[in-house]
Amino acid sequence: MFLSYFIVAAFFCIGLIIGSFLNCLIYRLNIGQSVLKGRSYCPKCKHRLSWRDLVPVLSYLELNGKCRYCRKTISSQYPLVELAAGILFAAVAVILEPGIVYSFDFAAYNLFGLAYYWLAVSSLIVVFVYDLKWFIIPDEIILCGLLASVFFYASRFFYVFSLTGKFDLDLLANPFLSALLCFSFFWRYFWRRAENGWDSETLNSRHSWERFSVFPILWSPYFSLSSLVL
Ligand SMILES: [Zn+2]
Repeated sequence: MFLSYFIVAAFFCIGLIIGSFLNCLIYRLNIGQSVLKGRSYCPKCKHRLSWRDLVPVLSYLELNGKCRYCRKTISSQYPLVELAAGILFAAVAVILEPGIVYSFDFAAYNLFGLAYYWLAVSSLIVVFVYDLKWFIIPDEIILCGLLASVFFYASRFFYVFSLTGKFDLDLLANPFLSALLCFSFFWRYFWRRAENGWDSETLNSRHSWERFSVFPILWSPYFSLSSLVL
């Protein structure tokens, strides 16, 4: 039992760290900067941040919500996204991959599942914050979520098929629906591109789907949940 608590706490901490990365992703995606290049900096005074400024949630509390260098207010989005990611990472593990938390079954099959659910949660957080701030859902995130769904559910289906030789329709529904959504996304994306010009980097062509595109990524976890329950 103690080990279970420890695993949940560790997953919560991983979520906090990923949440910090998601904040950076949200900020840099909006200004068209790569997340992989360059150290983190204060969006207001551009001062480089040291490790002491980057501890999830705790840095924000220590600095009273103000930048250490320019004393300007840091948005409450930062600690909130970190906390949300922490809680959701732990919750998803307990609910969707209980084998890892309760029976310490760190089999590749379970870990692969957990990685996928964490990716889905992360993209939903980015979509949520992005939509809330700028009323836009970035194509890049939807595309990532959809491609991951197709890949994940297809590999689960083939794995079960190779073990049991059983053609599981429930398991096949997931990659099929994800692929369908992926196709419709591409179709709409290219159709918009053809309409707006291939080299124009307008907002219209970058963000083909708006508010309702939250649903495609929500669907996949929903279907996997329903197939678990049924
Ligand atoms: Zn600053």
